[in-house]
Amino acid sequence: MARILRVNLSALTATTEEAPEAYRKFGGRGLTACILDREVPPTCDPLGAENKLVWAPGLMGGTIAPCSGRMSVGAKSPMTKGIKEANTGGAMAQKIARLGFKAVIFEGKAKEPTMVKIDKTGVSFCSAASLAGLGCYAIIEKLKNEYGKNACFGCTGPAGDMGLTAASIMFTTPDFHIRVAARGGLGAVMGSKNLKAVVVDDAGSNLLEIKETHKLKENVSALTKGVLGTHFLEGLRHMGTPQIVMITQTAGALPTKNFSMGQFDKAENLSGEHMEELLKKRANAETVHACMKGCIISCSNIYTDENGKFIVASIEYESIALIGSNCMIGDLDMVARINAACNDAGVDTMDVGSALAVAMEGGLLQWGDAEGALKLVQEINAGTENGRMIGSGAKVTGEKLGVKRIPHVKGQALSAYDPRILKGTGVTFATSPQGADHTAGIVLPGPHHPEYSPVEPTGQGRESRFMQQWMAAIDTLGYCMMIGMTFMEEKPKQLHLNMIGALSAVTGETYPDTYIMDLGASVLEIERRFNRAAGLSEKDDRLPKFFTEEKFGPAQFVFDVTPEEIDSVHKQ
Ligand code: SF4
Repeated sequence: MARILRVNLSALTATTEEAPEAYRKFGGRGLTACILDREVPPTCDPLGAENKLVWAPGLMGGTIAPCSGRMSVGAKSPMTKGIKEANTGGAMAQKIARLGFKAVIFEGKAKEPTMVKIDKTGVSFCSAASLAGLGCYAIIEKLKNEYGKNACFGCTGPAGDMGLTAASIMFTTPDFHIRVAARGGLGAVMGSKNLKAVVVDDAGSNLLEIKETHKLKENVSALTKGVLGTHFLEGLRHMGTPQIVMITQTAGALPTKNFSMGQFDKAENLSGEHMEELLKKRANAETVHACMKGCIISCSNIYTDENGKFIVASIEYESIALIGSNCMIGDLDMVARINAACNDAGVDTMDVGSALAVAMEGGLLQWGDAEGALKLVQEINAGTENGRMIGSGAKVTGEKLGVKRIPHVKGQALSAYDPRILKGTGVTFATSPQGADHTAGIVLPGPHHPEYSPVEPTGQGRESRFMQQWMAAIDTLGYCMMIGMTFMEEKPKQLHLNMIGALSAVTGETYPDTYIMDLGASVLEIERRFNRAAGLSEKDDRLPKFFTEEKFGPAQFVFDVTPEEIDSVHKQ
């Protein structure tokens, strides 16, 4: 699998080429970074024709390795103005890999809204006029009826069409639920290219090349045995990521009232425990659900109402915290409805959830006004002024409403962990080339890390660096973050070796024991090089001032990691 598919939207042509040597050692996030670094002018307009949109399965994509079908979507971000990778589950990466492609690069700009179909016979183009004005749920339903059950889709919603900076790209799971390449406004990049939807069908194709099948099976079997039964997986396998609500609540790090408090008095109503109890009683609901083939964790869910009517799939911790506690909304059904409205508009629940809290702080809505928040998100589809504002994320919303406390780094809203309590995660938010993002290297205490104190101001740079490198490698290999966190917990040395052994079985190459961390470090270096050339510097690697000034929680913590330690993260 060493071919690249280039789709030129200006000319409506597609070409296939052997991947250049420089691209071969990467997949996923590393490959999107490498392609952008070599092919996209760092100072270009993110919504101009010079920007490229890259979809890349990881190095393990399409193989039998557990949870290895994640896809990296890359482009210069209209939100951070730097390099961006948005990572998603769903069926797309595995299908692209089975068609024999390391990456699909969308270039140029179509004259009118266009749909691209990719299958074993090649690439075709058609008008997307029939999808105009539809929300993402209607688009997916229409495509499913037209292209059948073996296809999967990636599309933009109204927010992407309008070029809003919190616009995401929506992908489908094998059973046609939505998974989202959420962060950084890459839906606006897709919209700017007039690329409305992509249909991929891998029927009759398996061009994935595995050099040593037996060796792959052996290493995959060892990896799977190693991770099943780990502490990290216990809760995930029956509550999914909503299990984190009560963990951050107990730690005092659950974003509440626009990051002014770390505990919410209605947190139990939003918890994974409550969700599990609720959904077990509801028809057509599922408390565990896999977003892709080969997932051994199933951390997703299908959320229905008390009559068994579908609301959303899946509801995740980050959405619950940023739409829920951070807006003082303690009703999980309403959080699920607002999440579904975000999916329909095609926006990031994290940036829009954060924007809702900022709008509440700015007086546009009352704290806890769930109905008002839902209506405001629904205004995105209608393209009203307030809808466009909220669909552009927390920074734009805060600036328009004159709010001083805007929780963002490089223009991207913080994920749902207060950095005054989780200081290593705060360093990652500050210094990741991706902007504030938990998937870039969250640093957590736990049984796997008994000596680590998350509130100490020193030593956090080292912890953050390790996790940033680790996650950059996990995203490059194509593993899901959930299994990536688990690999670290149990006998990490042996699991590292099994990960390396599995890759070696796929490529036929040999790698040193240090391969994984070296890979992550090299990806971060490429990303930082792009960002420097785009004009970002150390002054952009800072949390908003209120985190360093406002005392927080009973122990009156502030984020007090020194600028020197922050700046040392990427200098080792
Ligand atoms: S663990 Fe969760 S996010 Fe990861 S692949 Fe499985 S269902 Fe998807």
